[in-house]
Formats: sequence, structure tokens, C-alpha cells
Amino acid sequence: MAEPNSTIDETGTKLSAPGRVNLIGEHTDYTGGLVLPMAIPFSTVATVRAASDGRYTFSSTSFPGERSMKPDDQSESVGDWSDYPVGVLRELQKRDIEVPPFSLSLWGDVPLGSGLSSSASVEVATAVALLNHAGATLSGAELALLCQRAENLYVHSPCGIMDQFVIANATAGHALLLNTRDLSYELLPMNRGALAQTRVVIVNSEVKHSVASGEYGVRRRELEEGQAIVRARFPQVKDLGDTTPEQLEACRAEIDPVAFMRCRHVVTENVRVREAGRAMIAGDPDALGRVMLAAHASYRDDFGASVEEVDFLVDTAVHLPGCHGGRLTGGGFGGCTVNLVEAHLVETFTQALHEAYQKRFGIDAAIYVCEAVDGALARWDHTPEEKR
Ligand code: ADP
Ligand code: MG
Repeated sequence: MAEPNSTIDETGTKLSAPGRVNLIGEHTDYTGGLVLPMAIPFSTVATVRAASDGRYTFSSTSFPGERSMKPDDQSESVGDWSDYPVGVLRELQKRDIEVPPFSLSLWGDVPLGSGLSSSASVEVATAVALLNHAGATLSGAELALLCQRAENLYVHSPCGIMDQFVIANATAGHALLLNTRDLSYELLPMNRGALAQTRVVIVNSEVKHSVASGEYGVRRRELEEGQAIVRARFPQVKDLGDTTPEQLEACRAEIDPVAFMRCRHVVTENVRVREAGRAMIAGDPDALGRVMLAAHASYRDDFGASVEEVDFLVDTAVHLPGCHGGRLTGGGFGGCTVNLVEAHLVETFTQALHEAYQKRFGIDAAIYVCEAVDGALARWDHTPEEKR
């Protein structure tokens, strides 16, 4: 979680973006719903140097090789890590932002493919570094949308807006309650009342079941199918984000039973995110923990996206002293759990959970105790006159 960057020389401008963990609100960010993530102290650092060869060159300390292109290059994605930063460059070019030739090096410690959003961290770090190089800026919402388009259109990954938004716009010490329909948001302090005595503990199950990417597409289709039926019945409803549990229930007979369960997860999850927000404002870790556990049950039973290892981690965690609640976080089928734990019991909690998981699955889980950190915009020292 430090940023010692000895492999990148001291010339060039470094800008960084964090990772993120979602406290609650899973698969609600592409149907106009609510999410409650926070930025965490892992980073991607993008170092940009002006290039005299008239080209754009990309490299990463996490992957071998480099990708180099002329400014007017229009080549398709190549299916490796470089598509993320190149996709961002393409979206900047589409906005007619003139980016002078550069060499961009990425360094990162956000765990890859673990649900802590290393991909959005790369996109946002690249975007701020290239904007800075071009002498341009974007608003927080525009920056997030641009990075999402890079991932949707160039990497061909149909992600929602949550990751890029929180990674760009987070404020230290706060979680960010985002309405993904209109991108309005509220910063909720992590230190109200008894919440100040708790810590967010992320446990990496170190498993990622290979069905994940295929199942993501299936889930999206199921949600769209159910959403279309609700909309036809209730014309005032825009999407699942403003569908009430009662409205969904009224359509039960018309919706395929599996699609109905997927939709029920999303609709009830939006209710739970609001509840979690209220618990944070009240500084009530018990209430927040309870709603996280309810969210896990819904993610597991209705959305069908948990796995044995993750269920074991959540079930074990919740029986340990000082744990208010926990849940699977991220896209599903493995990855990390997020837990709310009394600060003075964090050490015994992590030891006991690590040991139990090791004993049951023979896996050495990485455990991270995280405070909420600043997003990329708050780290970027740029003057408002540069805005365009
Ligand atoms: P997640 O976003 O949950 O970590 P993804 O599969 O969406 O998982 O994104 C992981 C991918 O993002 C990696 O396989 C790699 O292509 C890219 N990536 C992440 N971090 C870096 C990095 N430091 N340098 C280059 N590419 C990275
Ligand atoms: Mg990702």
C-alpha cells in the first residue's frame, strides 16, 4: 500500500488513483440504483514524460513489454493490460483534447481481479496524468464517464459507473453514496458516533471462479428482461433504480422466476443502501453490519453470485468477536469480502479468520485493514484556470 517507486526514474509527472471497496450496493450501478463505496489505500501511479519521438508509448511494471503508437493510430484493442490506458487516450481524443506525444509508465499495487477495481484505478490514473500533460481538466463526473466509456467501448467490458466515479471523486475519511442515475452523491463520514471505533477489513479469498465474466453478461440480460416488464406495467418507472419491492412483486407472474430473483436482489439492495447510509449518519455500526449481512444473503441467494470460499469467510467472520457484519464485495464469484470490525479487536479478528480459512481451504488469504482515502481529483493539484 506504499508507493515506493524506485523502478520509475524521478523525471516525469506522477499522478495517482486509489483502488476502491464497495461497502454495499452490488450490481445496482447499471440500472440507475445506489452504491456506497469508498476509496482505499492501494494505488496506481501513472508517470508521464514528454516524448521527442512523436509517439505515444505505454508500459507497466506489472506486465512485460510496451505498446507504442502514432497519434493518429486507430488500431483495435489487443486484449491485454494496455487496452485500459489506450482506451482512455482514445476517449480523450474523441473529446478533441490534444495530447502531446508522451511515454506513460504505470505502477500499481491494487490487487488484480479481486474486486478492488484495479482496472478503474488504471483508467483514472491514466486519465488525470494525460489531462495534466495536455493542460486540460474535466469535471469529476465527466472524468468518470470518460473512463467508463474506455472500459465499455475499448476493453469491451460492460461495467457500470461506480468504480470510476468513486476512484475519481472520493474524499478521505468518507464513503460516497452515489445515485448512479444522475451521478448526484453524498459524502458520508466514517467517524460518526460508535462507527469511529470500527475499521473496514477487506479479506481476499484469493479465488476467482472462471464463470465470472460470462455470468456477468447473463445477469445483466436477466435484469434488463425484468426491468422491461416492470416498466411496461408501471410507465412512471425508469429502471430498477426507482422500482419499489411492491411494484416488482406485482409483476412476479410475468417475469421468469430466475430473472425475478435477480431483480429482487437489485430492488431490495437499493433499499439496503439507503438503510446503510442512514446507519452511517447515525454512527451505528450494528445497524450497518446487519444490513451488510442482509446484502450478502441477497447476493448469495437471489443474485446467485457467491461461492463456497466467500460464504465461509462471511459466516466465520460474523461469529468472531468485534465483527458487526460482512459481505462479498465486487462483481461476484470470488474476490474479496468487506467486514466492519471493532478497532481494538481487529488483530485477533484477522488472525482467527486467516487461520480458519487456511485450515478449511489451505489458502493464505491477504487481509487489509483500510481507511478511506482521497480519490484521484483530490490528489491532483491543478488550478481552476486550466479547466476546459
Ligand atoms: P479488477 O478491476 O477487479 O481488479 P479487472 O479484471 O477488471 O479486475 O481488471 C484487471 C486488469 O486491469 C488486469 O488484468 C490488467 O489488464 C489491468 N491492470 C490492473 N492494474 C494494472 C497495472 N498496474 N498495470 C497495467 N494494467 C493493470
Ligand atoms: Mg475491473
